[in-house]
Amino acid sequence: MTAVVELEGVRKRYGEIDALAGVSLAIQRGEIVAMLGPNGAGKTTAISVMLGLRRPTAGRVRLFGLDPTDRRARSRCGAMLQESGVPPVLSVREVITLFRAYYPAPLPADRVIALAGLEDRAPARVGTLSGGQRQRLYFALALCGDPEVLFLDEPTVGMDVEARRTFLDAVRALAADGRTIVLTTHYLEEADALARRIVVIDHGVVIADAPPREIKARIPSKRVHFDTVAALDGAVLEGLPVTAVERSGSQVRLLTAEPEAVLRELFRRGVPIADLEVAGADLEEAFLTLTARPGRPP
Ligand code: ATP
Repeated sequence: MTAVVELEGVRKRYGEIDALAGVSLAIQRGEIVAMLGPNGAGKTTAISVMLGLRRPTAGRVRLFGLDPTDRRARSRCGAMLQESGVPPVLSVREVITLFRAYYPAPLPADRVIALAGLEDRAPARVGTLSGGQRQRLYFALALCGDPEVLFLDEPTVGMDVEARRTFLDAVRALAADGRTIVLTTHYLEEADALARRIVVIDHGVVIADAPPREIKARIPSKRVHFDTVAALDGAVLEGLPVTAVERSGSQVRLLTAEPEAVLRELFRRGVPIADLEVAGADLEEAFLTLTARPGRPP
């Protein structure tokens, strides 16, 4: 079966920067794939190349087995990109009606509005929407053509908790209909909540491509911070399931994928712990350890 998206050795160079430095990837029909990576990793460039909006410097790109600029391929796609523009004086429903008119077999306007959670804002002018509502409108516009594949570039930026929940439910419903979803995000939690496959991109290369469970085990996504009150013998921190240990006076900072196991072991060793804090690690920092240890078993 022809892959929906196929990249083979794709490079994209902007001046001195290799935004994509040799990416090979195939996405099959019905997959939900999250491309995860820090700022500047190459996620937006990858989506732009898949959609034929940017030409790769080298390598091969196929969308439904065709050149991505081919209208027959493009008409089967919906895209929500970071910089979209919509006339501010039209109402939400008017813009949706306008976009639907571009497609041969659009989704009904009410279904688009409901999927995007815009029922209350349908009569409102686009210019009066909040940032999060505007994101929902862009999502609605990506759906108008009843696309077989949806490309969503950082779709939840600016959405509040409720809007994100509506959005995640809508994406799941669309995927359940057999659609293919490709989205980018900075958030491991979001990738995990939606995708069955996570492609981690860093510095223009794919550094991991696996189901969320495997990625979570490999990315030290939690930071454990505590105060040992008194000076500590460093040996007591050896052999913990961590990827980084930082000490500054009595302060200890650990990077780990398994905070519970780390804490269990610290308590077992009788390490005095005060001011304990467990928080999500900075993804950039986590990626550094992932790149530094390629091939590390999950
Ligand atoms: P973010 O999460 O910040 O959106 P990203 O993973 O989507 O980042 P890209 O936007 O693909 O990353 O950018 C990859 C690299 O290419 C960055 O170093 C960026 O500065 C550079 N880049 C992107 N577009 C251009 C352009 N039009 N001209 C020059 N450099 C560019």
